[in-house]
Amino acid sequence: MHIIGNAKVITFSSDRPFLSSGAVAFEGNHIVAVGENEEIRASYPDAEFTDARGGLLTPGLINLHSHLYSAFALGMPWDLPAPRDFDQILERLWWRVDQALDLDGVYHSGVSGLLDAARVGITTLVDHHASPSAIQGSLDRIAQSYDDVGLRGLLCYEISDRNGLEGARSGIEENIRFVRKSEKMEKLRGMVGIHASFTIGEETLDAIAEAMQGLDGGIHVHAAEAASDVETSRKRFGKHPVERYASRGLLSPKTLMAHGVHLNETTLKAMVEAGVTLAHNPNSNLNNAVGVAPIVHYRKEGLLVGLGTDGLGQDILTETKSAFYLGKNRSHDPSAWFTGDLVELWKNSARFVSRYFERKVGVLEKDAFADMVLWNYDPPCDIEERNWDGHLFFGLHPRLVDSVWTAGKPVLRKGEFACDSERMMREARVEAKKTWERLERI
Ligand SMILES: [Zn+2]
Repeated sequence: MHIIGNAKVITFSSDRPFLSSGAVAFEGNHIVAVGENEEIRASYPDAEFTDARGGLLTPGLINLHSHLYSAFALGMPWDLPAPRDFDQILERLWWRVDQALDLDGVYHSGVSGLLDAARVGITTLVDHHASPSAIQGSLDRIAQSYDDVGLRGLLCYEISDRNGLEGARSGIEENIRFVRKSEKMEKLRGMVGIHASFTIGEETLDAIAEAMQGLDGGIHVHAAEAASDVETSRKRFGKHPVERYASRGLLSPKTLMAHGVHLNETTLKAMVEAGVTLAHNPNSNLNNAVGVAPIVHYRKEGLLVGLGTDGLGQDILTETKSAFYLGKNRSHDPSAWFTGDLVELWKNSARFVSRYFERKVGVLEKDAFADMVLWNYDPPCDIEERNWDGHLFFGLHPRLVDSVWTAGKPVLRKGEFACDSERMMREARVEAKKTWERLERI
């Protein structure tokens, strides 16, 4: 039994969201009790005690859509003209990076991205992976990187026809194999990854639907990210991308769609009715100049919206602020939403991930997984029941992360990793160089 006490605790639990002098007791991978500091300490007098010294304890943060392989794109060599549209961004940047990866590159880019994520307080990262030169076994190598750093995740391989039907078939096999294998894993589960409608033909989509028969899992797909995805889909298949997935019965509460910048009222309704979750990635949308998803409107219509970074770093706090500002700006109304709406976005990310596990994530309450972050947060203004959400989104900063636990195990203690992060980063640098050498020949 372990207690983290003498903390201000934001629980995200609906019955008691904030404790000004609280404690969390946990044993094994889950929380046993949350309550007032004195009361919890008296209940478990023999427990090991970590004194938070008045710091802020929150649930671990969740990045609902990311690409760990993007860790090796940081400062990559570039001698091509700047991309002029979304398709050119994929062709000149991302599809060269992922093609250059071998299995060692997959593992070490995974480790780099996960160390980066833990440093900013993330305990669950939902990854969407591609390495067309090394498909088979790639999810096992990513799983190893999660185990070595100590984070929780949902993993998938992005199926695409861009490497021919053989590549697509191989992607389907890798997903199905890992979904089955991961059912017994402690902190990982598999999903079925699809790149996007414009790189998936009818034959491949049928094969995906067939392979998923009887499988207790959902798809993770980029949907209507750019207007061109919708235009291509309508031209080639006579349907909006979301309608293509719906026609194969692929919309469910375990379905995760990223972006959804270009939904219409029909597809929005279909997603709401099926209980699909949308991962909003505002900074990526800005960077790719694909438009801004009308999230305030989507939420009013009942769509579950969570937040991801799309591999543009792992800093979900900054991403949350961008969502806030963009939501107001796109609505032309500064009162369009408040910090309480941001809490709901984080809760939606947690609700979605929890559907894949036997316990809840993203909440500090009895029986939930002990995924937590302790922040060295000492603001001049009081944190209280009525204002903790304002502190959460405007006061916290990644540099304030002190300690991180996933499933009750320390990942980071007082800024020091439990794993040998220095050796891991040394090895990652060697692999990044090799990846770049291959990349320059593509
Ligand atoms: Zn993405």
